[in-house]
Amino acid sequence: MSSLHPVARSLPARSSHTPAARNRRGALRSACAALLVAAVVSGCGTAQGALQASTPPSAPPVAPPGTTAASPGGPGTSGSPSAPAAPSTRPPGGSDAVPATPPGAPAPSATTAPGRPPEAPRPGSPQPAPGAPTASTPPAQPAPPAPPPAAPGVSAALVASTAHGGRTVALTFDDGPGPATGQVLDVLAQYGAKATFCQIGPQAAANPAMVKRILAAGHRLCDHSVHHPQPFAALSHDRQVEEIVPARDMIVRAGGAGTEVPWFRAPGGGFTAANQQVAAAAGMRPLTWTVDTRDWSKPGVPAIVASVQHGLRPGGVVLMHDGGGDRSQTVAALRQLLPWLTAQGYGFDFPAV
Ligand SMILES: [Zn+2]
Repeated sequence: MSSLHPVARSLPARSSHTPAARNRRGALRSACAALLVAAVVSGCGTAQGALQASTPPSAPPVAPPGTTAASPGGPGTSGSPSAPAAPSTRPPGGSDAVPATPPGAPAPSATTAPGRPPEAPRPGSPQPAPGAPTASTPPAQPAPPAPPPAAPGVSAALVASTAHGGRTVALTFDDGPGPATGQVLDVLAQYGAKATFCQIGPQAAANPAMVKRILAAGHRLCDHSVHHPQPFAALSHDRQVEEIVPARDMIVRAGGAGTEVPWFRAPGGGFTAANQQVAAAAGMRPLTWTVDTRDWSKPGVPAIVASVQHGLRPGGVVLMHDGGGDRSQTVAALRQLLPWLTAQGYGFDFPAV
């Protein structure tokens, strides 16, 4: 820890170092500083999870773009490498295409109170403050170009509850956008329901109009990987990173400027402590579910409806699909479920962040 602190402090100090000799050296130094910072930042961008897992060679892994660098506690204190929550390797059912099985962590965690998960690693533990000046020196000007935010405050703990708890439900639709997405949106609109769409990157890229329509209707987006490989947890760390981060970028591009993707859902629920860290470092909370309708297997409309009616508890997260094949049963079930949920006093919410 003590070695991290001076490093962190040296960065901002350099940039504003020589007020007097600014003429020549200033230019040189700030260029160097910019390069340095850019190198650090880009190095952290995707490999952050890896950095945290293995002992960091040098830099504090978290140091988000420039200004927030000085995190007194440093990542060392939060014991990042420890507590590898038992990898929830639970390969999906038979189907190769679409997820089926509930996520490894079976405990819904959301009985009523979606309380803070215990571990919540919080990469840069103490530093959510956006514009906090670092040390005694004034912030100075050479703010480095901000890359995609490293999401200082995003927890890597699995989300299995709604944002507001109580008698709310978060509906989630995976594997889209696809041919059925428009119908799902129509039914949701009919009942004033909001939902979260966990999208496959290339499909979002291929249908930006649908992504924009989802956003315009007030729904939210979630990253569901590039290729939907399964079992996801069995992939190498690098492959998982390549599935998680580029998919997010595709979804953001499809949605347009300002698009937010606050969650990542591993294909088949194949979460591990490591890929949860990757998602969190990219600004997304890993999102699981509490009710699996198994709608992808086309079990019949009554079975889909019953799975929710019997399995949902307040604050729960329901898994359905708007892609991956014929979703007519899903749409039909939704027509029954939405009025039922409303009659039961449920409000429609988003997952916790
Ligand atoms: Zn899926």
